[in-house]
Parts: sequence; structure tokens; C-alpha cells
Amino acid sequence: MSTSDAAPIALIVHAHPEPRSFSTAQMATAAQALRGAGYRVDVLDLYSDAWDPTLSRDDFPSVEGHFKPQAEQMRAVGNGTLDATVQAHLDRLLAADLLVLSFPMWWFSLPAVLKGWVDRVFVMGAVFGGDHGLFGEAALAGKRAMLLFTTGGSRESFMPGGAFGPMDDFLFHIHRGMLEFVGYRVLDPVVTYGPAHMTEEERAAALEAVRESVTLVAADPRSRDVSLV
Ligand SMILES: Cc1cc2nc3c(=O)[nH]c(=O)nc-3n(C[C@H](O)[C@H](O)[C@H](O)COP(=O)(O)OP(=O)(O)OC[C@H]3O[C@@H](n4cnc5c(N)ncnc54)[C@H](O)[C@@H]3O)c2cc1C
Repeated sequence: MSTSDAAPIALIVHAHPEPRSFSTAQMATAAQALRGAGYRVDVLDLYSDAWDPTLSRDDFPSVEGHFKPQAEQMRAVGNGTLDATVQAHLDRLLAADLLVLSFPMWWFSLPAVLKGWVDRVFVMGAVFGGDHGLFGEAALAGKRAMLLFTTGGSRESFMPGGAFGPMDDFLFHIHRGMLEFVGYRVLDPVVTYGPAHMTEEERAAALEAVRESVTLVAADPRSRDVSLV
């Protein structure tokens, strides 16, 4: 399928320090699948862009005294004085119909560089709060988001009764606390469990499963697709 200016946009925000990693191959596979499904794909590669994940007063040079990050975000949105890099990322976020967060699971969560992207780019006053509310009232309501990630642990270890416990428990703070909070409808995640422990053939099959899952999600906006490789 060819893309046009009217095509939906998928923003993939990728966070892995190694370009030859499985996670990066998985991201590239997902991007290809989305393009095949007619999306215009925008990739933000946080490590290769040397993204600074720290939300600090450096983003708000005019602040004096007690620094209240969200109050400053609101003020900067109102004044049009958001940090230029943050504004550029925010513009790409707001333009996207589908957000894909791509990463290796670290400490049962997002790598810090990606968490810091959320800290700085999910700007109060622009994506929630201020003129917008929360959840269904937030600025990204009507759009979809999904997680695309790898683990070290096996699929079994993330099942109820497994060594770590149910995967949903670890994802709740991302799904509810970040994505739904700013309005997204969250699609089920696409996960490759333990790629480092697979044979070459299993890894090739896992990438194929990612391609199929992402294609399914892209084809049906109501899909509750999930790939648990
Ligand atoms: C700080 C930290 C915290 C962590 N916390 C957790 C945790 O809480 N829970 C947990 O489960 N795990 C955890 N891990 C482990 C981590 O999640 C896994 O190591 C990671 O998800 C594996 O994915 P990867 O892309 O890094 O694998 P890689 O090691 O990069 O890749 C695996 C293999 O795939 C090969 N490969 C790359 N590209 C391709 C391709 N195109 N085709 C076929 N093969 C390919 C690579 O050469 C390599 O042999 C943690 C790791 C770190 C560093």
C-alpha cells in the first residue's frame, strides 16, 4: 500500500543503546509493517539522537526561585516558550495517530532515557491539564498507543504463578499512568520474550511474529491484538 499526505502517522519512539540489538531489529520490523499497512512512520531514536532525559530547570531558563516543573510547563505552553527540542518532539507526538514505545524491559519498566522522554514531552498544558483534562478528556483522546518490547525473562516467568508474576502488573504504570492518562486508547503490547536465549531460527520466527502482530494492529483500529512470542 502506498502512503500519502492523508495517511495516518505512526510515531515510534525507540530506546536501545545498540543498533545491532534484537530490540532495534524488532523496531525496524514494526516500522516496515506499519509502512506496508499505509502509515507514514516517524522514528525517534533516543540513543542515536543523544536525547537528554532529565527534566530540569535548564528547560526553563527564566525560572527563578522554587522550581515547579509542571507549573513551568503550563506557563511555557501559554507563552510559547517551551524548550525548542521539547517543542519539536511534542509537535511530532501531537501529529501522530499511533504512538509506539519500543524498548528492552529494564527493571520491569522503561529504560530511563525513555521514561525521561515521557517526563519532558508529555507536557502539562499541552497533552493533559490546563485546557485539557485527564484520560478521556486529555489531548490525545481518540489516538492509540502500544508498547513494543523485549525481555530477558521467559514468557512463563511473566505468567500468573511465574517467577516474576503477571506481565500486566508491570505494565499498569505505563498503560494507565502514562498512556491512558494523556488520552490514548492502549493496544495490547507486542512482546518478544528472551530473544537472547533463542536460536537464530527462533529469532527469525519471532521477528516474523512481530511483523504479523503489528500488521494486524495497524489494519484494525479496534484490534486487541497481542503477540506473545
Ligand atoms: C539495566 C537492565 C535491566 C534489566 N531488567 C530486566 C527486567 O526487569 N526484566 C527482564 O525480563 N529483563 C531485564 N533485562 C534484560 C533485558 O530486558 C534483555 O536483555 C533485553 O530485553 C533483550 O533484548 P535485546 O534487544 O537487548 O537483545 P540482544 O542481546 O541485543 O539480542 C539478542 C540476540 O538477537 C540477535 N539479533 C539482533 N538482531 C537480530 C536479527 N535481525 N535477527 C536475528 N537475531 C538478531 C543479537 O545478535 C543477539 O544475539 C534488563 C537488562 C538491563 C541491561
